[in-house]
Amino acid sequence: MTDSLVSDVFGGPSLPQERRLVTAVPGPRSTELFARRGAAVARGIGTTLPVFVERAGGGVIVDVDGNSLIDLGSGIAVVSVGNAADAVVARVREQVARFTHTCFMVTPYDSYVQVCEALNRLTPGDHEKRSALFNSGAEAVENAVKIARVHTGRSAVVVFDHAYHGRTNLTMALTAKNMPYKQSFGPFAPEVYRVPMSYPFRDGLDGPAAAARAIDIIETQVGAANVACVLIEPIQGEGGFVVPAPGFLPAIARWSRDAGAVFVADEIQSGFCRTGDWFACDHEGVVPDLVTTAKGIAGGLPLAGVTGRVEIMDAPHSGGLGGTYGGNPVACAAALGAIETMEREDLCAKARRLGEVMTANLQETAARTGVIGEVRGRGAMVAVEVVRPGTREPDAAATTAVAKACHAEGVVVLTCGTYGNVLRLLPPLVMPEPLLDEGLAVLDKAFATLS
Ligand SMILES: *Cc1c(COP(=O)(O)O)cnc(C)c1O
Repeated sequence: MTDSLVSDVFGGPSLPQERRLVTAVPGPRSTELFARRGAAVARGIGTTLPVFVERAGGGVIVDVDGNSLIDLGSGIAVVSVGNAADAVVARVREQVARFTHTCFMVTPYDSYVQVCEALNRLTPGDHEKRSALFNSGAEAVENAVKIARVHTGRSAVVVFDHAYHGRTNLTMALTAKNMPYKQSFGPFAPEVYRVPMSYPFRDGLDGPAAAARAIDIIETQVGAANVACVLIEPIQGEGGFVVPAPGFLPAIARWSRDAGAVFVADEIQSGFCRTGDWFACDHEGVVPDLVTTAKGIAGGLPLAGVTGRVEIMDAPHSGGLGGTYGGNPVACAAALGAIETMEREDLCAKARRLGEVMTANLQETAARTGVIGEVRGRGAMVAVEVVRPGTREPDAAATTAVAKACHAEGVVVLTCGTYGNVLRLLPPLVMPEPLLDEGLAVLDKAFATLS
C-alpha cells in the first residue's frame, strides 16, 4: 500500500496513485476557469490540456473537478522527483520561513554554494569546476554564450538543426523551429550559425559521418578560428527527442577542443537522471567544457545553472554575471531536496527501468499500428515519431489526435518535433510501475482507434 500512496508532509490525506475520471476531461469547473483564463491571460501563452490543477504528487495530477490524471509529462521534464516531493517541500518550508530573498550578489547564503558544489560534483568530468545560478533555462544558455565569448575573445555560436534553447532574444536565434517560437519576433541576435544534426531516422548517417558533415560546414562557412562555442543538446528535447548516432557527440566535442572553441552541452531537458544517468553526455563519456541545467534541477521551483571548467567560468570579470533572483534561496533549498531525493532513491536506476517498460510497450504498439516510424530515447526520455504508414512522412495530425485521445482518457502526454509528429513521454521518475502500465495501455488504445 505504501508503494501506491504518496505520504503527505502536512499530515493530510495521501494522494492515491490512480487514474480516476469522475467527469469528462476537461470537467465543468476547469471549463469555467478556462473561460476566465481567456479573458485575463494573453493569447500568446498556449495550453496543452485545459485542465486546472488542484493537487499533484508522485505520478498523478488531480484537477479541480476531482479527476486524477496520470502524468507522463512532468511539467516538461521538471518534476522528475515527483510533484511536491517530500524532501523538496520540507526544505522549501524551512527556508521560506527563515528568509525568502537577500540577493546572492548583495549578501550571500550557503544553500547557493551547496547547489554549486553539487553541480560541480555531479556534472561530467572530474576537473576543477565553478558554477553560476540563474532563473530559467534560457537565461543559463545566454550566460553560457556570454562566458564562452569572454573566454575565447570570439563571437560565433554554432548550433544545430532541430535545436531548442529558449525564447529570449538570443535563445530564439539559437532555436531552430520558426513556428511558434520565432515567427514575427525578430530581428534576432547575430553571429549564430546552424549546422546539420545527427538524426539517424532521417539522415541514415553513422555518427562520424554526420559529425564530418557538420564540421565541414563549420570550417568552410564560419571558420574554426571564429567559433566561441558549439552548443548542443546531447539528446534534443523540443526538436523531437533526437538521439544522435553513436560517435557524433564525441567527434563534435573533440573538434571543438582542437579548434579552441568551448563545447557547451545544453542538458536542461536531458539532465538530472532523466536519461538513466546523471547527464546524457555520460552515456558516451563526453566531458563538456560547460553544461547548462534547469528543469529537473529543483523539483519545480525556478532555478538554472551553468557549470564548467574553472578557467572558462572565471573568464568574466566580477559583476559581469548575475541577476536579482538568480539562485533564489527557496529555489536552492528545493534543488538540495531534489538532488538528495535523486541520490537516495537512485532515480537514475528508476529512469532506466521506466525506460525499459516504455520502450517495450511502445515497440508492441508500433508493431500493431504501422504509423510509428521509430521508438527512440534514453532512460525515461522516450518518444515515438508518427508517420504515414509505410513512409517516413511526418503525420502531425495523427500525433495530435493520439495526444488528445490520451488527454480525454486522463493521461497527460506531450508532443514535440520540428514537424509536430513526435509524441514524447517524460514520467516523473518516482512513477509507480502499474500506473505507467495503465498510461501506456491508454496510449496503445489511442493509437488503435487511429486506424
Ligand atoms: C526548456 C529548455 C530550455 C529553456 O528553458 P526555460 O526554462 O524554458 O527558459 C533550453 N534548452 C533546452 C534543451 C530546454 O529543453
